[in-house]
Amino acid sequence: MTSRRDEILKEIGITPVWRLRVQESLAEAQEVSSEPAPPVPDTRALQPSFEGTSPVSHQTGEPSRVAAQPSALHGSSAPMLRRSAADDDERRAAIIRMDWAGLKQAVAQCVACALHARRNKTVFGVGDENADWMFVGEGPGADEDRQGDPFVGQAGKLLDSMLAAIKLKRDDNVYIANVVKCRPPGNRNPEPDEASKCEPYLQRQIELIKPKLIIALGRVAALNLLSREASIASLRGRVLAYRGTPLIVTYHPAYLLRNLPDKAKAWEDLCFAVKTMQSLQSGPSVTT
Ligand code: SF4
Repeated sequence: MTSRRDEILKEIGITPVWRLRVQESLAEAQEVSSEPAPPVPDTRALQPSFEGTSPVSHQTGEPSRVAAQPSALHGSSAPMLRRSAADDDERRAAIIRMDWAGLKQAVAQCVACALHARRNKTVFGVGDENADWMFVGEGPGADEDRQGDPFVGQAGKLLDSMLAAIKLKRDDNVYIANVVKCRPPGNRNPEPDEASKCEPYLQRQIELIKPKLIIALGRVAALNLLSREASIASLRGRVLAYRGTPLIVTYHPAYLLRNLPDKAKAWEDLCFAVKTMQSLQSGPSVTT
């Protein structure tokens, strides 16, 4: 008789090859409460890098760049750039004092970057505002732009199946958001200025939710959250951090829809995340 778990694994395309490993991994995760916490991320490895980058979009396949950091502007001697940086600092300071209602209203009315011009709806985020788990993607696509919710359509369906495989639901102990709240035209990657302008909203969401663990979905989300250039292969399987909150990187569901063999790797990442969460819930905090 086929179990619900087998059905889910079949749906996300990693059975029967992974059935045995799934059972082993989950059994291991359930035993982890007696194990020591995952290694504390090395903050020296998390220093921002402003070097030119060329990650490839999971949606378009086009080269992109990591978001420029505000501090990159501080070094400029141009008065206009200093003024812009001061404005950004002032705006960020206002955003990080907002409560949920103020934050939602600010996003709904935001015109801080060029993405506001072509959006239908802002996509704030969805889920449990006291969640232990927070999943962060890159930006809204066409379906999300129409509906105002993150991860709908086929990629959203796959994400829901991935969550179900580790006994999670998007509205129960899970919150889902994106790096940018408005759809980049043609599903391109967010430009550095767009991601930088939108980052205070995500920062504030994370501060309000206080998740125990962030899962970065895809390379673009990971690079923007970590402010560093790296391959997704080098980021997977490690406990990193966003402003002190443990962070794990895996593939974006939209990428997995087109790269079926990597679903098995995504499953490894989810099992690692479950194990890490077990350690976080039972052991000392993992902070940087
Ligand atoms: Fe504002 Fe973010 Fe939308 Fe840009 S993407 S207009 S910063 S909410």
